[in-house]
Amino acid sequence: MTLEARLKDEARHLGFDLAGITTPEPPPHFEVYARWVQAGLHGEMRYLEREDALRKRANPKEILPECESVLVLGMRYNPPGLLPGGERAGAGERGRIASYAWGEDYHEVIPPKLRALVAFLEAEVGHPFPHREYTDTGPLLERDLAQRAGLGWVGKNTCLIAPGIGSYFFLAEILLGLPLRPDPPFPTDHCGTCTRCIEACPTQAILPDRTLDARRCISYQTIENKGAIPPDLRPLMGDWVFGCDVCQMVCPWNIRFAKPATEPAFAPRPDVPAPILGEELRLSPQEFNRKFKGSPVKRAKRRGYLRNVSVALGNAGTVEGLPALRAALDDPEPLVRTHARWALQQLDAGQRTTDDGRETMDNRRRTTDDGQQTAGGKPCTTPPMQPM
Ligand code: SF4
Ligand code: SF4
Repeated sequence: MTLEARLKDEARHLGFDLAGITTPEPPPHFEVYARWVQAGLHGEMRYLEREDALRKRANPKEILPECESVLVLGMRYNPPGLLPGGERAGAGERGRIASYAWGEDYHEVIPPKLRALVAFLEAEVGHPFPHREYTDTGPLLERDLAQRAGLGWVGKNTCLIAPGIGSYFFLAEILLGLPLRPDPPFPTDHCGTCTRCIEACPTQAILPDRTLDARRCISYQTIENKGAIPPDLRPLMGDWVFGCDVCQMVCPWNIRFAKPATEPAFAPRPDVPAPILGEELRLSPQEFNRKFKGSPVKRAKRRGYLRNVSVALGNAGTVEGLPALRAALDDPEPLVRTHARWALQQLDAGQRTTDDGRETMDNRRRTTDDGQQTAGGKPCTTPPMQPM
């Protein structure tokens, strides 16, 4: 058995579902990426603009000059549900968290396994060598490298899609100062004429060149954006309070092939995937820290998360959120207060009584305090269609 085959065996033994090797040559789509940054489609993620970050993404050897090969790995996480638009979380007072964030933080789970792989390789070759491991955070065009390492193709939704697996997996890389035989690049694009993800995206964030307008993406808005969410996007965010799975949920490759993760650390924490919004909005800083210790959700910080929860309550269209939203008007964080106020305005604007006497919300078009025309309801399940 070759060293490359033994390495991939060890990767599988450690829980990785995918492993491929590529060269440290510049990634083929760097120019597309550079144009994306130049156009400002990365929003407030200013670290992507830095000259050194661009230089490193253009050439992995700028990160590790001794790099002779790159090991690209994938580890599955749990899919949100196998049906497009499946209302796993229920409606109304519950929110939705993207499924990659249901369990333990992959930034904690995967790096020890990468270090174990390096130790395995060092034992195999009998000497240490320069290396650098990354779990999502490195200045690498990781999906480009993954495609070149033979793992799959970059879908129109910008996710890497692996045949027989789908796209619900984390990517990780190890730059190795060790020559290994590269795998052949993944040869084909299996999106074909499908445009489901583009049509389903609630905010029309997916662009034709397999990039996203991050500024419109719910994942970006709920996680990376540290300030106010643009008022025109808020009604489109539905019940997503951390990330968004829509463009993966509708993908036929996930519908057909996604299956539960084998890594136990990614098992859903009981109270995370579909949080009760009214309860979340009452989380004190201590309770937030306790609940999301070791979870990817802590990245949003309490103020960002409660901002998202407020927006989801405004979109939920039920009166159940009123008490928590009113209490949030006194939250110590201005960001939470302003979004709670917006949500209350949404509810006030739509409140009515149904024929059976229940108070509910009106889903007819209405005008927000910002003067925007918006639609009620849950647009992530009935997305507006727009020509690209
Ligand atoms: S479907 Fe959701 S995650 Fe995908 S691009 Fe649109 S907003 Fe972003
Ligand atoms: S939904 Fe269709 S177009 Fe989008 S990534 Fe999946 S196969 Fe490709």
